[in-house]
Amino acid sequence: KDAKADEAYFDSYGYFDIHRTMLGDEVRTEAYQRALEQNPSLLKGAKLLDVGCGTGILSMFAARGGASQVAAVEGSQRMAKAAESIVAENRLGSSQGGPITVLSGRIEDLQTLPMQQVDIIVSEWMGYGLFFECMLDSVLHARDRFLRPGGAVLPDLAAIHVAGAGCGALDLDFWTDVRGFSFRPVQRQLLEDGLKTAHVAPVHAKDIVTEPCQLRSFDLTSMTPQEADFTADFTLQASSAAQSGAIHAVVLWFDAECSARFCKEQSVLLTTSPHAPQTHWHQTILQLRQPVAWQHSAASGAGAQEPDQGPGRAVLRGRISCARSSQHRCLDISLECAGLD
Ligand code: SAH
Repeated sequence: KDAKADEAYFDSYGYFDIHRTMLGDEVRTEAYQRALEQNPSLLKGAKLLDVGCGTGILSMFAARGGASQVAAVEGSQRMAKAAESIVAENRLGSSQGGPITVLSGRIEDLQTLPMQQVDIIVSEWMGYGLFFECMLDSVLHARDRFLRPGGAVLPDLAAIHVAGAGCGALDLDFWTDVRGFSFRPVQRQLLEDGLKTAHVAPVHAKDIVTEPCQLRSFDLTSMTPQEADFTADFTLQASSAAQSGAIHAVVLWFDAECSARFCKEQSVLLTTSPHAPQTHWHQTILQLRQPVAWQHSAASGAGAQEPDQGPGRAVLRGRISCARSSQHRCLDISLECAGLD
C-alpha cells in the first residue's frame, strides 16, 4: 500500500466522530458484545488479539467475557492513546492487574506480542460493500502470523448478497419539486453519477423487488487476500406475484457471522440486509443503465398460471466483479446484467 495514502487512512481514525458512529451502531456493537461476552467456553482464559482496536471496545468486551490476556493493536497513534486511557479508566490495563495491553502501531509492523501466539483474533474490519478500506488484508496477515493452529477468528464467516430494487431506492423523487421549484438538473446529474460510482445509502425493504441472492461467501479462517478479488454470476427472482415490476438498481450488502464453529453458546449473525435494522454501513447501490422490467403475459387471461410466472420467476441475470484497488483502499465494482423477460 501507498505509505502516504495509508497515513491519511490512519489519520482518519484519529478523531472521535467516526468511533462515535461505530460505537453508536447498536446492531454492530451488540453483535460483537454478544459474541465476546456470551461464549465462556471460547473466551475463558483465552489469549486474544484485537486487530485495529480503535477505542478498545472489543478488547474490553473480551476482558469481560473472561479473556486472560488481550493485545489491543491500533494503527492510529492518537486513537491508541485514547484506548490506553479508556482501558486504564476501567482498570482493565495490564499495569493495573487487568488483561489488556494496548500497542500503538500497524499490526504489520509489530514484531512481537506480549504473548507468543493467540487463541482468538477479533476485528471489526468490514467496510462498505464488505471490502472497502482493504483492512481485511491486515487481519489475515495477523492470522497467519499470530494465531495458534485451530484458533478462532471472529467473525469467522462473511458473505455478500444482492437483490434488485425499484426506482424508490435511487431516492430521486425528492428533486422533482423542492418547495415549488423543479430541481430536475440535480436528478439528471445524480442519474449520470450513479452509473459511474456505487452509492452508499439506506435502502428500505419496500423498495426491494426481488428475492435476495448470495453472491459469494468467505471463510475468514482459511481465505487468502486474493480471494477478496472475485467475479461472480447471479440470478434474481421476482419476489412477488405482481403482474409487472422493474429493477432500477442492484443493491449489495453483507453479513458477518461468529458461527457455532467457535461460538458454541451464542453464535451471532451481523447482517446489513435492507430487511433488517439499518447499520452505519447501509447498503451499496449499483444503478442500472436501463431499468429491467418484466410483465406477466397471462396477466389479463383467465388461463392457469404458467410455471415460470409469479414469485420465484427469474427476471435478471448478472455478473459482478469486485477488485480492491490497494493503493487508495477503495473498491472497483463492475456490474453487467441483462433482463430475462
Ligand atoms: N475495533 C474498534 C474500531 C474498528 S475501526 C471498534 O470495533 O469500535 C478499525 C480500526 O482499525 C481503526 O481504528 C483503524 O485505525 C484500525 N486499523 C486498520 N488497519 C490497521 C492495521 N493494519 N494495524 C492496526 N490498526 C489498524
